[in-house]
Amino acid sequence: MAVREILIHPDARLREVAKPVEFPLSDEVKGVIQDLADTMYDAPGVGLAAPQIGVSLRIAVTDTVWRSEEVRHNKDEEPCGEIRDLRVWINPEFLWKSEETATWEEGCLSVPETYAEVTRPAAVRLRWYDAEGMKHEQEFEGFQAVALQHEFDHLEGRLFIDYLSPLKRNLITKKMKKRFKS
Ligand SMILES: [Zn+2]
Repeated sequence: MAVREILIHPDARLREVAKPVEFPLSDEVKGVIQDLADTMYDAPGVGLAAPQIGVSLRIAVTDTVWRSEEVRHNKDEEPCGEIRDLRVWINPEFLWKSEETATWEEGCLSVPETYAEVTRPAAVRLRWYDAEGMKHEQEFEGFQAVALQHEFDHLEGRLFIDYLSPLKRNLITKKMKKRFKS
């Protein structure tokens, strides 16, 4: 259980295609899942994929409830961060994407302090495995659909800035290099 360092664009490891996870999960992989959750909540973020902590495996975690508007509105009664909905997505695969699209402002823990509008399919049907090795299939829409597509992109070595114009992307890359020089 540990908060790990999040790789910052343009780290080459963010561009690798991650490898499928084998079941049953090894203790090492279980540790990676725990670290992903710890690191996401610590950041704080709504999603984190294994390549972002330098692990080339097809695993992502999300919690789209924890920081949602509803939770914030209820802050008086319920301390912020009390309501959690940690989801673990292993070997996710899209079975269907809607033709209808939706545009959301996205950000990424690997591209800090940068937000941009990205247009993606509005709804998706996903097949994935949970941490117990159970297979699931479900349709998602709204913010959850955005988060899943964003995290899936990380497993393919893609970042949300890839959807922007080359000019915008280069400006962001320059900014990252300057500010987060490693
Ligand atoms: Zn991201």
